[in-house]
Amino acid sequence: MNHDANIYGLTYTQLEDFLIAAGEKKTKAPFIFQSLYRTQISSFMDVADINQRLKTQLAETFSMTLPQLIRQTAAADTVKFLFALPNTDSDKQDHLIEAVLMKQNYGSSLCISTQVGCNMACAFCQSGRFKKVHNLTAAELVSQMIAVQKLTDCTIQNVVLMGIGEPFDNYDNIMQFLEIIMHPHGLAIGKNHITVSTCGIAPKINDYAMHPQHGLLAISLHAPDDTTRSRLMPINRRYPVTELMNTAREYIRITGKKVMLEYIMLHEVNDTPEQAQLLADLIGKDKFHVNLIPYNATENFGFQPSSRARILAFYDVLKKNNITVTMRREFGASVNAACGQLRADYEHSIQQ
Ligand code: SAH
Repeated sequence: MNHDANIYGLTYTQLEDFLIAAGEKKTKAPFIFQSLYRTQISSFMDVADINQRLKTQLAETFSMTLPQLIRQTAAADTVKFLFALPNTDSDKQDHLIEAVLMKQNYGSSLCISTQVGCNMACAFCQSGRFKKVHNLTAAELVSQMIAVQKLTDCTIQNVVLMGIGEPFDNYDNIMQFLEIIMHPHGLAIGKNHITVSTCGIAPKINDYAMHPQHGLLAISLHAPDDTTRSRLMPINRRYPVTELMNTAREYIRITGKKVMLEYIMLHEVNDTPEQAQLLADLIGKDKFHVNLIPYNATENFGFQPSSRARILAFYDVLKKNNITVTMRREFGASVNAACGQLRADYEHSIQQ
């Protein structure tokens, strides 16, 4: 069985297998999933409608470990969490990750981390300053959601994989996580309420399109040409813009879904009207949605956020070319919730 001993890493099918191996009926699985994910029990003794022997067996086999809250900060409709994961790896560093809850009028969204650190080394991103030391397991991914729901008493409707890390550099665990959170007896998060964001690992986009548990896809594009994109994102040297866009088109053809292109607005780097026109030409009539993201300035990178006027001019060019485009509200800016900022802040403060 491919699961760790934390119950939150178990898929529904793996739970059924466990029950059969334990000499129980697999019809107990719905009670256990519902108790874990709907009632959000904290002890196996509280699982509804199962006998004492099975409760004891669950408790002896599995843990219900949640990440430990280090810091929680709230501003308006955003709550950010800094968590420490129990570190079972040989390195003795703290495994710090971030999650950000955004309360929107169409339901709450949780942005979660997928790795401790990140190897993608995007030039503007704080997360990449800490090399990857750990891929989050399915249990660690699911337990971020449970921890936030328990801490805030809110029900998460949307999940975005846009926290620290590159989800497609941790592909198998992400797919197992999606299977667990989509299960109708559990959290029952719908396909269209999950967004996986990638820096553009093209072969994994192909796999994701074919995977039964795929949700929506967002690609961090950030530049329409190879020169600019390779400067911002080293991954572009492996999978250049044309190849990436062709892969994204194939994803659209297979799934019938729109792909979101994320585009951080960096002053005089990627925000000229000429670059907007290039982007429009790259998209053509295909089903892409461009999301223009104000840059959350981070220390020492030498990038400046584009002015509002430059963002609007860029937006206008896309609109004139009939591209679907939105401007992201600056969610999280006041709580330093851009990718990796929270952890960086914390490490900075404990070093002082
Ligand atoms: N590795 C994945 C997901 C994590 S990053 C990816 O690259 O998509 C999530 C998003 O936040 C990406 O679009 C990333 O480029 C963006 N981001 C990183 N640092 C940022 C900053 N300082 N301000 C605004 N957005 C940022």
